Amino acid sequence: MTETIQWKPYDPSWLIELAKDQCPEEPWLPEALAACTNAWQVNEVSIDFIHPFEGKFETNITFHSPTGGMVILDILESNIVGGVEFVFFPPLTCPCGYVFKFSATVSHSWIAVHNMRYEEFSRNGEELATLTLDREKNKLAIRNLVRRGRELKEKIYQCPKCGRIAWLKPGEKSLHIFAPENTVDLEPSNSL
Ligand SMILES: [Zn+2]
Repeated sequence: MTETIQWKPYDPSWLIELAKDQCPEEPWLPEALAACTNAWQVNEVSIDFIHPFEGKFETNITFHSPTGGMVILDILESNIVGGVEFVFFPPLTCPCGYVFKFSATVSHSWIAVHNMRYEEFSRNGEELATLTLDREKNKLAIRNLVRRGRELKEKIYQCPKCGRIAWLKPGEKSLHIFAPENTVDLEPSNSL
């Protein structure tokens, strides 16, 4: 990592509130979050509280964000919060009126990967599988690969009522909505 890390003061109080609210089974978490007062903005959606070369990745804890989407905490060894990532998921109401409930979206959604990125995506998955064989040794690399994997995924939601699709591209904060038109039958020669 060659970028210079610029630490800035951070107010974790909203994360502490989310933790108290949504994660009462982890009583240590609010205090761990209270220590997150210095942050480095890694990219548009990720913030680190701990230098990326320090600490060993242990697990993720996920919250639902009050503004829509998910908040994913990276928990390092010894219950330290290493960073946070925001996965945008807008409160999604289809133009037909159907409201997607976050918990119900899985059955109406697809993960898409751009053709040009697919090779990287597959490699990422293979590398991840190899590295997890020695989770202890490869914790930092695993964390980076998991993050990169998320960046490569695009989400497509289909409205079960009207068939419109809403497409969320990586890094974008608006949904592109498409309404169904005709069905075009493939020519027999094309379908072979
Ligand atoms: Zn709809």
